[in-house]
Amino acid sequence: MSAPGTVYIVGAGPGDPELITVKAMRRIQTADVILYDRLASKELLEYARPDAELVYCGKAPGSHAMPQEQINRLLVDNALNGKQVVRLKGGDPFVFGRGGEEVMALAEYGLPYEMIPGITSAIGAAAAAGIPVTHRDYASSFACVTGSRCHGDKSPVRWDLLAHGVDTLAIYMGVSQLPYIREELLKHGKPPSTPVAFIERGTTSRQRTITGTLADIHKLAEAVQLRNPALIIIGEVVTVREQLLRAEQQALSHAQALIG
Ligand code: SAH
Repeated sequence: MSAPGTVYIVGAGPGDPELITVKAMRRIQTADVILYDRLASKELLEYARPDAELVYCGKAPGSHAMPQEQINRLLVDNALNGKQVVRLKGGDPFVFGRGGEEVMALAEYGLPYEMIPGITSAIGAAAAAGIPVTHRDYASSFACVTGSRCHGDKSPVRWDLLAHGVDTLAIYMGVSQLPYIREELLKHGKPPSTPVAFIERGTTSRQRTITGTLADIHKLAEAVQLRNPALIIIGEVVTVREQLLRAEQQALSHAQALIG
């Protein structure tokens, strides 16, 4: 039997293909097989070898393209067949990416793997929208939270603690649960005036950023027809974006006045 191949669990970054790491790119260029997700930029596949096998494993919300067990099976089988495999996932594979389940499946078979981290979308999208997740004046902590785990899950989100214990909340997969998340945070004492930003398709050429407050986010999301993938940032740091925009506007007016 030939030696098993290595599986590289690779973070593609938040959307802009150029935000991938050098290490991840090298693995893409040499892989025999690439199993990729919906949120990993398709442009990255152009760097694959012409003879590489490309397998789509993506899941659109509400429809499961390929069950997780089948993905794990494909990773294991390809590695057992001596293939160098890249498992390409959006953002960072270990942040709401089920990368932990995949490495456990590989470890069970004693197969070699390497984890290559990526920029998670909360960090990438917030940065691209001019929102620092921490700031000396506004936030000394931030949390990455899933909005989709609400009722009856093994580790439910503690909105009661998050409402008080963390300055900036970055909520993934929160679009459909927005009214519930808002209600929970308000119920547990988060002020309705807390600033909120939605960042849709962050870091891509189609990025859209909308800001409001906790009081009106559910109405705002409906009005602007907020769509996935979108990040919800809640906290005073959102005002930094507004300050940056104001400063830019002022600089522009100043320049225009100088030109006459
Ligand atoms: N592993 C990924 C997260 C996967 S969960 C990461 O580290 O980023 C999928 C969720 O991530 C989406 O529902 C959305 O909330 C968020 N997301 C992923 N890409 C995004 C992007 N370009 N802009 C905004 N949110 C994004």
